[in-house]
Amino acid sequence: MSLYTSLISSLVFPLHERIKNHSSVAVRKEMELSQWWDTKRLEALQLLKLQRLLAHVEISVPYYRDLFASVGFKAADVHSLADLSRLPLLDKPKIRAHTEALKSANGRDLSRFNTGGSSGEPLIFYISKERVGHDVAAKWRATRWWNVDIGDPEVVIWGSPIELGAQDGLRALRDKLLRTRLLPAFEMSAQKLDRFLHEIRAIRPKMLFGYPSALSHIARHAEARGCRMDDLGIHVAFVTSERLYDEQRQQISRIFGCPVANGYGGRDAGFIAHECPQGGMHITAEDIIVEIVDQQGTPLPYGEAGEIIVTHLATGDFPFIRYRTGDIGVLDSKPCICERGLPLLKEIQGRSTDFLVAQNGTVIHGLALIYILRDLPRIRNFKIIQENLNLTRVWVVSDERLEVGLTSKIKEGFKARLGQEVEIVVEEVNEIPLEKSGKFRYVVSKVG
Ligand SMILES: [Zn+2]
Repeated sequence: MSLYTSLISSLVFPLHERIKNHSSVAVRKEMELSQWWDTKRLEALQLLKLQRLLAHVEISVPYYRDLFASVGFKAADVHSLADLSRLPLLDKPKIRAHTEALKSANGRDLSRFNTGGSSGEPLIFYISKERVGHDVAAKWRATRWWNVDIGDPEVVIWGSPIELGAQDGLRALRDKLLRTRLLPAFEMSAQKLDRFLHEIRAIRPKMLFGYPSALSHIARHAEARGCRMDDLGIHVAFVTSERLYDEQRQQISRIFGCPVANGYGGRDAGFIAHECPQGGMHITAEDIIVEIVDQQGTPLPYGEAGEIIVTHLATGDFPFIRYRTGDIGVLDSKPCICERGLPLLKEIQGRSTDFLVAQNGTVIHGLALIYILRDLPRIRNFKIIQENLNLTRVWVVSDERLEVGLTSKIKEGFKARLGQEVEIVVEEVNEIPLEKSGKFRYVVSKVG
């Protein structure tokens, strides 16, 4: 570790976190001890935190106070992790319908968020400082598994408006100190891709972070240009938010000369699991209880595929208890060869995002269009189908009939990205069918 990195990681960043009232430093240190605990000890910790969480929400969160009363559930009766399954599942429509009642009566410093990545229908929810500290710590621990620390140079290829919108002076200073360079993943014209390659070469990052689709797109471009990227000393490429396909993993790894580490989670569900250098997808068990359930919500045994349900134990001020991710996964009972006791999640089948092509040939990440729809009110679900360069269809499932104003807002937003001449057809539908493969896709492009 360089002197600069150790200064940032052990002094400057901890100070930054203390000013923001985040507990990430202490939490990360605890997690680096508990990651080696055995299953029994980790489960005892989970039970203790679960009992505390449930006792808190029973008193302080109106939604849970009413729910517990209506199903006859008492926090004091919880004596094992299995008792959790007596509670009903929480999903996005429920959060949407009870956003205010889900806030703890004594919750302070709650920040408002939209769902990140491509992981689901639009959703507004709240995150407390306590939770931020835990989520930052979990990510920090995982980067340290790969011999990368806060303060090491990193290049982030991202497109979330949360990050892109917050490029004020303070944020810029922070990024500079932490040596984080953000490259916008939305519009990737050949010209922009050339600039990305140039910047990555100049920065020589220890770590790349981004969507697998975006990183493999950049890798492909480097290869086509004959631009070498495997001589920069990159330790690892962190990918998240989308399903990582084997071809993408191989391509990113080959072109950038580093292993690829897959991460699974989102702003809503939290930092659920992360890959270690030995290939195990370790669950952040100290903070997150993962259940795999069947269609009736009944937990399935290890090894069986079902929907991934998470309970985030640091969410007392806006609880995520038995929250449906909509993704399919399998719990693995085998230990990892790295000897960490954190349980393993395998075969996650999330939803995927495609690229679209603008009329002028610019390749656009599907999220650029997803964010336009996601931020609109009353839209429950959607699907974008690019029929050809001149026509893109948008299917929308809405709580109420779409107003003309809203429709033209969608059209304007899409034209701004795809080209003013492109015809955008917005169609209201009752339901969006799954693909033949059984997967849900937000973006399908028939171009290219
Ligand atoms: Zn491992």
